[in-house]
Amino acid sequence: MFRAIVSSPDDFVNRVLAARGGRREQLVQILRQVQEHTHWLPRPVLARIAAGVGLTPAIVEGVASFYRFLHLEPVGRVHLLWSDSVTDRLQGSRVLAHELCRRLGVEPGQVSSDGLVSVGFTSCTGLPDQGPALLVNHHQVLTRMDHERVARLADLLRAQVPPAEWPAEWQRVDDSVQRADVLLGSLPLQGSAIRATLARGAEATLAEIIASHLRGRGGAGFATGTKWTLARASPLPPGGTRFVVCNADEGEPGTFKDRVLLARRAHTLVEGMTVAARLLGARQGYIYLRGEYRWMLESLEAVLARRRASGLLGARILGVTGFDFDLEIHLGAGAYVCGEESALIESLEGKRGVPRIRPPYPVEQGYLGQPTIVNNVETFCAAAHIAERGGAWWAATGTPDSSGTKIHSVSGDVERPGVYEFPFGVTVGEILAAAGATRTQAVQVGGPSGICLAGPEFGRRIGFEDVPTAGAFTVFDATRDMFEVARGYAHFFAHESCGFCTPCRVGTELIVRRMDKLAAGFGSGFDEAELRELEALLHGATHCGLGASAANPLRDTLARFPQAYQRRIVQPRFVPAFDLDAELEPARRVTGRDDAAAHLERLG
Ligand code: SF4
Repeated sequence: MFRAIVSSPDDFVNRVLAARGGRREQLVQILRQVQEHTHWLPRPVLARIAAGVGLTPAIVEGVASFYRFLHLEPVGRVHLLWSDSVTDRLQGSRVLAHELCRRLGVEPGQVSSDGLVSVGFTSCTGLPDQGPALLVNHHQVLTRMDHERVARLADLLRAQVPPAEWPAEWQRVDDSVQRADVLLGSLPLQGSAIRATLARGAEATLAEIIASHLRGRGGAGFATGTKWTLARASPLPPGGTRFVVCNADEGEPGTFKDRVLLARRAHTLVEGMTVAARLLGARQGYIYLRGEYRWMLESLEAVLARRRASGLLGARILGVTGFDFDLEIHLGAGAYVCGEESALIESLEGKRGVPRIRPPYPVEQGYLGQPTIVNNVETFCAAAHIAERGGAWWAATGTPDSSGTKIHSVSGDVERPGVYEFPFGVTVGEILAAAGATRTQAVQVGGPSGICLAGPEFGRRIGFEDVPTAGAFTVFDATRDMFEVARGYAHFFAHESCGFCTPCRVGTELIVRRMDKLAAGFGSGFDEAELRELEALLHGATHCGLGASAANPLRDTLARFPQAYQRRIVQPRFVPAFDLDAELEPARRVTGRDDAAAHLERLG
């Protein structure tokens, strides 16, 4: 039988509140933890949580409503979410999802009449190299789904077999390391970088980070040494402290290399964060783990526990008095915008993940108003190696503007999907060849917020001076319709807009409507012109990078694959995407009119 609720919601809420100290900044964690017990968050439960953290129920409900993985309406006791990345779709996820719904007799997004199961979709779950994938109750994953597995899954659900007893093979996640260099090819660091830092001293180690020319791997490429120097120099308020935060919220569709680093190099990540803490004098750090990676939580907690037991984390690290640093893992709850560092900090503080107005920057006033550095998983791993081996060693690899190596998450139409670590300066074509791609039409480098390249550009080089990337490398062969690829990305951005600023909230939705209209065969030249205007608007008028990059796939596919749009522009003049005359029917009924002038089609 499915897991039964063993204590009353109130008892459980009280225990969670007590364990988390009733702290407001723990709100998202409290909501997540309570929901794991109650399946969804009814109003009385929200009210109890609100009282426990000293907030109004309206604020708590406002926070809960921001995150897709927090449910204010009932979901099934087994809640299934199909990964809806473009790669999962290429692998047939939509067909499989509808087949599962048909077998279960449930509509997508609805709960079965017996309350047992609900099936929905979510953005990329970070498993496009082994999809189609889906999440089970937010803490279990199923990979490589096919028709046979869907049929068996439906049988298991109908028989009420608990998810923990489903075939282990379905839950297998491979790391798929296809090419390793310094980050994936060397052993996990377990103290050597910290010892090197202690021997060299904080000032000198920071000088090595600067000399390495390491740039952040999250996409923007800000110099890591500069960021750490600024945070170190930021004055502390009385009683203040600095914080070290790891952004493990890789939500860019098509990216999964941090998943592999978290699985294989968690020690190196924590080592890098501990080195940073030593340089900044920080005592507390956080790993912001994306909600889709909830299934990795226990293994990461185990790494932290082992390091505490080994004297590599916690009080008096390596026996050094005053060197105290510990880490807490904070789970995201399904919001792509929280990959933006100030939105991530808001979420870490238990709020809606809306990007902050800057300045002040996080290095001045970040988490709880204190100087904070936020770097991603790959950056901290690189920093750990630099602390051990020196800045010149790292800078000797790569290109003048892009030192070191970069890990790429390769998926889509390739023979060998997986992660590939290459020195910066590698060409797009070289990665394609390594992955066994043939007949490649286009590559989306850096995910939908990155750039789409076509065949003649495959000689371009990966690096901040040419093609920057956060790590996604999604390949489309000649059979793929690049308009549909761009339309899928347009839906993704409209879905993920946090709604704070109008150009993004409305603009992304208007792009979706225009592209859907073209797809439905109602498109004219007017719609194409409108799309171009919207693309220009979004690039210049939004509050954060999500909105600014939301039209990138549209921009790139319009420029490189105009024929994909042209063949959809079939109407000689503007036509609405809906039946205007039918829309007037309610007005006709209210006014009692049915004369010719009240019908568009009867007007001359
Ligand atoms: Fe939110 Fe979009 Fe505005 Fe960013 S650009 S703040 S995601 S609405």
